[in-house]
Amino acid sequence: MAAKKSGRSGGRRRKKSNKMQKQIVGILVVIVAAACILLFGGAPGSVPELAPLITDEHAFAMHAIDVGQADAILLSKDNTYALIDAGETMSPSEREAQDKLFAYLDSLGVKRLEFLLLTHQDYDHIGSALDVLKRYEVGTVYDNGVTHTSATYEKLMQYILEEDIPYRVVSAGDTISSPWNDVTLNVLSPQKDLIMSGSRPDINENSVVMKATYRNVSYLLTGDAEKKAEEAMLDAGEDLNADILKAGHHGSSTSSTQKFLNAVRPAVIVISVGEGNEYGHPHKEPLERFVQMTKHIYRTDMDGDVVVTTDGEVYSVATRKPHVYENVIVPNQPAAEA
Ligand SMILES: [Zn+2]
Repeated sequence: MAAKKSGRSGGRRRKKSNKMQKQIVGILVVIVAAACILLFGGAPGSVPELAPLITDEHAFAMHAIDVGQADAILLSKDNTYALIDAGETMSPSEREAQDKLFAYLDSLGVKRLEFLLLTHQDYDHIGSALDVLKRYEVGTVYDNGVTHTSATYEKLMQYILEEDIPYRVVSAGDTISSPWNDVTLNVLSPQKDLIMSGSRPDINENSVVMKATYRNVSYLLTGDAEKKAEEAMLDAGEDLNADILKAGHHGSSTSSTQKFLNAVRPAVIVISVGEGNEYGHPHKEPLERFVQMTKHIYRTDMDGDVVVTTDGEVYSVATRKPHVYENVIVPNQPAAEA
């Protein structure tokens, strides 16, 4: 419009105006491009494709074992193993969750776990821990040290004491002694000041959050950490950026805030969740945020066991059951009220 109008005043002016218009368009293109990067930075367009199945014998892997509405996550490299959580669930049954965990470990020939990290004291994370200690040799047990009075936790702590199993409390800033070359294990949460729920430390919010890094690839394992823990990690300036995220609290809407996800920028998201669970996990809101982040979303209720393997540069995902993206992005519906 401006160029047309100025055309009346003569060719020279129009030429100048056209040049200006081109400059403005050029500037606009740059601004729009910058806005797109800001809006969609780390969004699906820039998410790396998965590598073909990595079979490198020195690969590092995270196995989200399908134990129903619970967590049991195995880390492995060079036939050396460690376990994060050993959960049980009432639904479908405790025995089924434990059988699945043991069958999985046995199938790999696991005899010893270098460490057992318990993210927090809820039954769906520690239910099988005592039996794990009885069945496998365990190097060290780590947890957040929150005093918990459940019979399951008390029995577990008593056994650790009686059997003289090395036990250590960890919090942000600590490192877990890595049994693998080139793998670092950094604890990012809970902060030294635990998050309180009234006069007691909040169980979920004080989950131990650990980042495992093998060369250039990182995994962020969040237990059941929720919004307050995510906020505390952001405030503390923790380096949250990771390629693979084990979604907090089984994909609950109480976790995985946009701010937190923006800091993590995961290319692969794994949700450990039970089929038809009574909480309706994973919830709609976090799933919608995950879809904006990446197309590589996996969940144990549909995919079965999920294994994310890396050679330290690229990563691949293997699932027990066929993976159908269109299915995994649909939220669960909570069981109808009786
Ligand atoms: Zn849980």
